[in-house]
Amino acid sequence: KGKVIVIDPGHGGEDPGMIGMKYETMEKELNLSTSFYLEDELCNRGARVLMTRTKEEERPNLSNRVKISESAGADAFVSIHYNSSEKNTSGILTFYYSETKDRPLARAIENRLADSIGLKSNGISFGNLHVLRENDTLSTLVELGFLSNAKDESIVRGSDYQKKAARAIAKGLEDYFSK
Ligand SMILES: [Zn+2]
Repeated sequence: KGKVIVIDPGHGGEDPGMIGMKYETMEKELNLSTSFYLEDELCNRGARVLMTRTKEEERPNLSNRVKISESAGADAFVSIHYNSSEKNTSGILTFYYSETKDRPLARAIENRLADSIGLKSNGISFGNLHVLRENDTLSTLVELGFLSNAKDESIVRGSDYQKKAARAIAKGLEDYFSK
């Protein structure tokens, strides 16, 4: 409650992100719809939410996404993505960059994502990613399933899964800030 949270729906515009193997689901669309569910969850908890993009056709560059967060003096930055792999990998991955600043938040969110929301969690991992590395804000990036895996894709396409994932992320943020 009272925290300023930046939600960053990955990709957008001419960058669709990953495209699903089976249903050709566009990652940029899943990122945005999941982000809107997360916005609802956070607003219901009394947070103020800023989005780095709110439209399909928008594609802010990576440094602008970070700038939105830093200039707002946000309390946390959460980037939403869906994954791809050459192997038949399945499940969720939560990334942090800074051991001291970011890892505890990634841990808190991953704890909730691991709580049977429909896909298994593969834990937390160091990620050398621009929006985390260049960000002074407490930040994390979640990959909420593999679009390269037909089973994952069929699950993550559903609004039910996206709502569960959004709720889990919101609970993780709540856990982090209330400890
Ligand atoms: Zn992505």
